[in-house]
Amino acid sequence: METIFTKILKGEIPSVKLHEDELCFAILDINPVNKGHLLLITNEPYPDLQSCPDEVLAHLIRLAKLADAKLREHLHCDATNLVVNNGRESGQEVPHFHLHVIPRWKGDHKNI
Ligand code: ADP
Repeated sequence: METIFTKILKGEIPSVKLHEDELCFAILDINPVNKGHLLLITNEPYPDLQSCPDEVLAHLIRLAKLADAKLREHLHCDATNLVVNNGRESGQEVPHFHLHVIPRWKGDHKNI
């Protein structure tokens, strides 16, 4: 199945790609909640959490840990939100599993 993220992975839609490997890739969110808001996305278009294999989930969360460290180092954020909208009724708009990593700063009261 094709999604906006499979098109981005193939380069058919432009993106700022930060990382790519055999299981996952990372891009900047086009509509960021905060500066540095990035998405960690599975290469395969698993529609949701339950369909995503455990080894891919483990890899994704390892990448989230690395992204958190890089955002703290380079953007000097104080914290991050790691967000997964899992299912349409949760607000998931793209049915292709992905994890939002959103930098947060002290005194930053924006909603996620
Ligand atoms: P929500 O829009 O409620 O966050 P999702 O969890 O499905 O729903 O997130 C989809 C995310 O993908 C959104 O944050 C949106 O800004 C982002 N997005 C959509 N199209 C693109 C694109 N072409 N490049 C980068 N990010 C995109």
